[in-house]
Amino acid sequence: MVLLDVKNLRTYFDTKLGSVKAVDDVSFQLKRGEVLGLAGESGCGKTTTCLSIMRMIESPGRILGGEISYEFTPSVIKSYDGFYDRYLYDKVKPARESKKESTLFDEAVIDNILLKRGIKDRSNNLLDLTEAEMRRIRGKHIAMIFQGAMNALNPVHRVGNQIKEAIIIHNPDIDYKEAWSKVINILETVGIDSSRARDYPHQLSGGMKQRALIAMALVNNPQIVIADEPVTALDVIVQSQVLKATKELQRQFDLSMIMITHDLSVIAEVCETLAIMYAGRMVEYGKLRDVYKEPLHPYTEALISAFPSITGPKTELYDIGGLPPDLRNPPSGCRFHPRCSKVMPICSKEAPRTTKIRDGYVLCHLYQD
Ligand code: SF4
Repeated sequence: MVLLDVKNLRTYFDTKLGSVKAVDDVSFQLKRGEVLGLAGESGCGKTTTCLSIMRMIESPGRILGGEISYEFTPSVIKSYDGFYDRYLYDKVKPARESKKESTLFDEAVIDNILLKRGIKDRSNNLLDLTEAEMRRIRGKHIAMIFQGAMNALNPVHRVGNQIKEAIIIHNPDIDYKEAWSKVINILETVGIDSSRARDYPHQLSGGMKQRALIAMALVNNPQIVIADEPVTALDVIVQSQVLKATKELQRQFDLSMIMITHDLSVIAEVCETLAIMYAGRMVEYGKLRDVYKEPLHPYTEALISAFPSITGPKTELYDIGGLPPDLRNPPSGCRFHPRCSKVMPICSKEAPRTTKIRDGYVLCHLYQD
């Protein structure tokens, strides 16, 4: 089941020197329980893509177009408390008395609720929701683990209180004791002793701070978690511990995840699907094994070759050469053409179209008819 369907997403940042085309025509899907790795060089648009999904793009950035369809499941519908309650008691009360609770969320009821809200389709575009509606989705149904645990946590509040705040925002009627016991539970689930709940961020190690952020993202039991470089700032031993914990939690909660990283080894460890971004575009997307074993796009191939092998013969480290382009004026045609080892005359003249291949797609003239 597809939970998130991103189509032709475009996010630009307006500057005095022109618009930075940070995300340009990006499309991908995320299924229930799937872990998607989003990789590419710094500045290629990975984080901007995910911040667009969360509708957290701030001025001078703006989402110009596209669609971010999110499958509205019963738990999401339930979170529209006010509307749902009104609808339930005015319209569905007779049905409630004659039927079992679970039937209240059958397809027809959900469609009716959405219809009343003026939402025609069950797969809805997050870009059409109001900010108030989006606040109910954010953190509750789609959560984000932010880059740099030290900056993401508030240094003057105890870690437990910061997690508690995330609970209270989405459950305003919850009492203090219940909220605190949820905090303790989630901290223990991510491997932090409950005694540390009253610590301030600076009292925790780097790995613990990262786990605390994971706890904050998971505490409301979201369907989708976006992890932005969750282990980049950690040393390899802590990295491995946090990745292991993340993987276990993903299985335990049946989470769908988007893992942003420029480290392909992290992706190989936790992801099933891989999307490669270059200069604001998604150039290759497919099953991890296919993309890793047989990369189709020359950029993916170069990115994988640039990753040193610890078992193979010692060779000089491969580098792609050149620099990522200025996204105010990206190169004409294929944006990778100034750095591509397989460049052809057409590449600088015409932008390649998406070619569906295997279970994904590639954006390269080499695969077009
Ligand atoms: Fe290279 Fe041309 Fe393919 Fe771009 S379209 S990646 S320049 S071969």
